[in-house]
Amino acid sequence: MTDLPPKIRVVGDPVLATPTRPVEEFDQNLATLIEDMFAALAVAEGVGLAAPQIGVDLAVFVYDCPTGPDTSARGHVVNPSIETSGDLDVQDEGCLSVPGPYHELGRRTHATVRGVDKDNNPIEVSGEGYFARCLQHETDHLKGVLYIDHLPRNRRRRVLREMEPFEWNQAHDDAR
Ligand code: ZN
Repeated sequence: MTDLPPKIRVVGDPVLATPTRPVEEFDQNLATLIEDMFAALAVAEGVGLAAPQIGVDLAVFVYDCPTGPDTSARGHVVNPSIETSGDLDVQDEGCLSVPGPYHELGRRTHATVRGVDKDNNPIEVSGEGYFARCLQHETDHLKGVLYIDHLPRNRRRRVLREMEPFEWNQAHDDAR
């Protein structure tokens, strides 16, 4: 027995390229999934994580994302839809499932996600700037889209070549 959080899937794993199914059962399994996702996010020191990144094809993501110098937003969304507005802001973006490199990508400056929580109560999360980018990135994951899929093909290839070994999965390899 180990207390390792779930392993984070890396680009090339089909689950990352497959649109997720909506959650229909709001039960203990869903609550456990969300706990597991927060555990994996913490170990990887990420700002957001979508269920496919731990191999689960359900429409759920979690976030723990800076919103200012001293503030952050933390939560989860089930079955989200997203609305974006504002200018395209071009900033470096990365992904725990594409470990190592970052690449510039334009995202809208404002995003609002509507969905439900683990108890099927409606929730709405709005963000701007970096948090808006995070909400767009995670919602994309649930459609089977990675940020590198938005890049021109040659840039996408370059990012894939720059991928690095996966420190936060090392414990799984060592435990084998
Ligand atoms: Zn990602």
